[in-house]
Amino acid sequence: MSTTVPPAVRSPGDGRREANAASVLRAVLDHGPVARSGIARLSGLSPAAVSRQCTDLARLGLVREVPELIAASGVGRPQIPVDLRTGDAGGPLVAGVHIGVPSSGFGLTDLRGTLVARQNLSHDGIPATELRERVGRALAAFLADRTPPGARVLGVGAAIGGWVDPAADTVVRHDALGWHGYPLGADLRRHTGLPVRVDNHARAVAQSELLFGRPAARRSLLHLFVGNVVDAALAVAGVVHSGPRSGAGDVAHLPVPDSSVPCPCGRTGCLEATVSDTALAGRAVEAGLIPEPAAGLLVDAAAAGDRRADALLRERARAVGRATGLLLDVLNPDLVVITERSSALQPEYLDEIRTAAIAHAHVCDDPERIVVPHAGPAVLLVAAATVALNPLFKSPLQIDAG
Ligand SMILES: [Zn+2]
Repeated sequence: MSTTVPPAVRSPGDGRREANAASVLRAVLDHGPVARSGIARLSGLSPAAVSRQCTDLARLGLVREVPELIAASGVGRPQIPVDLRTGDAGGPLVAGVHIGVPSSGFGLTDLRGTLVARQNLSHDGIPATELRERVGRALAAFLADRTPPGARVLGVGAAIGGWVDPAADTVVRHDALGWHGYPLGADLRRHTGLPVRVDNHARAVAQSELLFGRPAARRSLLHLFVGNVVDAALAVAGVVHSGPRSGAGDVAHLPVPDSSVPCPCGRTGCLEATVSDTALAGRAVEAGLIPEPAAGLLVDAAAAGDRRADALLRERARAVGRATGLLLDVLNPDLVVITERSSALQPEYLDEIRTAAIAHAHVCDDPERIVVPHAGPAVLLVAAATVALNPLFKSPLQIDAG
């Protein structure tokens, strides 16, 4: 964690102990409730090492024994299964904050990324100069009001679009909010008194798919985010790629086949200019379908039976699909996760994306490799919380026993 406190004195054995604890915790995340013998088999550790780690992790409040789940007819000495200590068992929580352009969202999740509380903060009427302070204060108020009695909040994860440096917990550049070189992590820490981690939202969603989503994601994963901004994240063998200065995933100016929409960069047919929520809402206002440029209104109109609104959403989905086809050919990921508001709510828009992607891709003919996020419409809050949860699953012994 980024903190000014000097690290504790560590012995050479600490690294291995930490890695073993992480393997055990990961096995319990994936397979819990699971007996210690099962954890040993899954992690390749000795039964003695597994027992030691389970004791440590239980002391930290991260796992618990579930005696009520002992198999009744087992042969030999029955083993008490171990599971994560989730929110309903009084387990620890983390907070997630997603900072978007029109609004921010706050959430509390448990160790399985299950949301236990959420709240929205509309940025409407908040002057740009006050936004940083208001988000920090609102997050602190949310935690004070909505943390269940007796629950322990281990930290805060923040996810935001634009260029983010997770090593410094800093927003390098977010043009729409006008944030440049902004130490978001330090600011939220001042408001909450909790450790804070910051990452780009596309990488955060990718990380949440690695931790909590489909197994194929851990082989290789492309996440494409389509909102007011359009960006992407790539993970190979369970690791999200950042590249030099964490600049990977900028697909805003990827040329979309058959698009001639002008882009502020001077070219035409760029992905963000063609498919962003902003572009979509602008077209919908122009066509007289919605009174103000808010993409959510268009989705509502389509759901209420407006055929022209539906047609516009399908057109966008097909453009997203054509771009996805290009990315499939370049990267050939096992899984493509697409965060996009219409397909998150209605499967027929995912079908449009899939059909267009497969028609344009040369290396992929399986539409089921393209999916929506496992967390559904809660994707961004779960992803934000994952920014805090992922370091915990990597180095569980670093948290203080509480
Ligand atoms: Zn462009």
